[in-house]
Amino acid sequence: MAKCPLCGSSLDWAELINQMIEKGLNEETLKDREKFLASFRGFVFKCPHCGEEFYGRNLPEKEAEKVFELLNEFKGSIDWEKGKVRLRLNSLLALDTMLEKWDEKMRG
Ligand SMILES: [Zn+2]
Repeated sequence: MAKCPLCGSSLDWAELINQMIEKGLNEETLKDREKFLASFRGFVFKCPHCGEEFYGRNLPEKEAEKVFELLNEFKGSIDWEKGKVRLRLNSLLALDTMLEKWDEKMRG
């Protein structure tokens, strides 16, 4: 799971994406994988725990890719009027990782 590179606290992906929406992430960027990842890497996030700032590229990109997929997979995943993510991204990511491991086990 994503952690603050400065204080090590766990970060909530929904909260991180909310920060991007607040600073102008729009629907068009969210539909384009490369555009989204590029703006993610260069985005300056603020840790809600320690208040320090860091770039998105310090967070696990594999998770950012999953977040991109989840947000596009579910209709209404973002309330654009309120500028808030509706999905519980961390729970979905945890579930996804669990299924992947299970899948590996079954094949392995
Ligand atoms: Zn922090």
